Amino acid sequence: MRLVLVGPPGAGKGTQAEFIAAHLAVPKISTGDIFRANVSQGTPLGVEAKRYMDAGKLVPDEVTINMVRDRLAEPDAAEGFLLDGFPRTTPQAAALDKLLADLGTALDLVLELVVDDDEVIRRLSGRRTCRGCQKIWHVEFDPTTTPGICDRCGGELFQRDDDKAETIAERLREYASKTAPLIDYYGAQGKLVGIDATGPVEDVTVRAIDALRSYGG
Ligand SMILES: [Zn+2]
Repeated sequence: MRLVLVGPPGAGKGTQAEFIAAHLAVPKISTGDIFRANVSQGTPLGVEAKRYMDAGKLVPDEVTINMVRDRLAEPDAAEGFLLDGFPRTTPQAAALDKLLADLGTALDLVLELVVDDDEVIRRLSGRRTCRGCQKIWHVEFDPTTTPGICDRCGGELFQRDDDKAETIAERLREYASKTAPLIDYYGAQGKLVGIDATGPVEDVTVRAIDALRSYGG
């Protein structure tokens, strides 16, 4: 099965991607992993991407798409894959459709993790990271015994900039403007399946797998 996973920040995409890919026995392919692999192996695309990243610039779509193309052409992706973090925009989705067509195939489904903004803010703004061991806690869902102190190592907890209310609001705005049009794009193709991504992680996985099963996954 050839799948794309989409959803707002804080929807639990990374975790669900692991579980769903394992269930389907397909590789989980994230742009983060592809970038790191290309950069660490010093491929021409990796060298080019690193130049942009070192300059604090966004890596151009063309570079990202070429990396995705190389990755999808590897043997382990021949029977299926789960893409996480790509495409993020409608032009990237169109480029993905084209490169899959060049490979003689097409996406089967796009799974959308549906979480409303209030829930995203609640999940992300409650996260606290340990300065000592980097473990991530949550003031509501996974609190420490003593507020502000890590149970594991006694380190001090802090809130990362990414988890601050103003940053979350900015990320949600960016998602709404750039990624949400993807939902319409795939909806128009009849490939979109949305599932409720609130509640315990295991329940969300079950919902995702049930949804995929009804489409032959
Ligand atoms: Zn700690």
